[in-house]
Amino acid sequence: MPTEMTLNPLILVKFALWIATIVVVTLLLRRRKVTSKVRLWFLVGGILVFGFVFGLLIPGGLNPNPVASLRTLLTSVLVRGQLVIPVAAMLVILLVAVWVSNKSICGWACQLGLLQDLLRRAELPKWEPPFWLSNSVRILAFVGLVGGLAMAGMDWIGVIDPFQIFSLQITWAIGLFSAAVLVASLFVYRSWCRFLCPFGLVGWLLEQVSLLRPRIDREVCKECQLCVKACPSGAMDDFYADATLHADCFACGACIETCPQEGALEWRAR
Ligand code: SF4
Ligand code: SF4
Repeated sequence: MPTEMTLNPLILVKFALWIATIVVVTLLLRRRKVTSKVRLWFLVGGILVFGFVFGLLIPGGLNPNPVASLRTLLTSVLVRGQLVIPVAAMLVILLVAVWVSNKSICGWACQLGLLQDLLRRAELPKWEPPFWLSNSVRILAFVGLVGGLAMAGMDWIGVIDPFQIFSLQITWAIGLFSAAVLVASLFVYRSWCRFLCPFGLVGWLLEQVSLLRPRIDREVCKECQLCVKACPSGAMDDFYADATLHADCFACGACIETCPQEGALEWRAR
């Protein structure tokens, strides 16, 4: 895939829009302006624009996404033994964004993440998998990706790539797998992101040392734990407990919106 990705100006337009979205969202989070309604607009708009509009405008199923950047880099290094600089640069910029503002790229700009997030709003019973389980499966999936590429030049994601639904490049395998992911997302928050996504895993490692994220001021906090209950990923549980490692935080802002205590919980650096 996409070494030619960099030649299409629409790729750069999308990339610039992604960065602009992350900057805007970070400002909204810092000012406590993210509400469920604001988020709904971003989810629907992002799915339409980042997903379907760019998916249909950029030919060949090359609409960029964070996972494709990582897969392309791994393929170029492990299979062809060369580093494709533009792809590496894109990935580095996305990872720097994770370092600066946690997983705001996943929470607000990745088309597949947005679609799963929207589906979770359905009023259906939810299952919250333990983090050790989802992350162990994700590590195995990543090992399978790297091992498959290094040993056999095979990329398992290419066979079932759910991002291709936005470009309407749907094979039987992609259609069935994507349907399973989307149905699962009705019941499990971001099933693909937390159980399978390789960018999700690399981003999770990096977000352990991210600059901006939800931070609690213990002197102001009334310990009602409404933030913990509002968090869809379990990350707030870990932030609240000052755990060494925290589960993925998708920068959704639900915890900050819920907190009734001015100044107790903010999106800030330490
Ligand atoms: S973790 Fe989810 S939102 Fe982030 S890159 Fe992967 S699919 Fe997209
Ligand atoms: S609710 Fe959870 S996932 Fe959302 S910003 Fe807060 S800690 Fe992160």
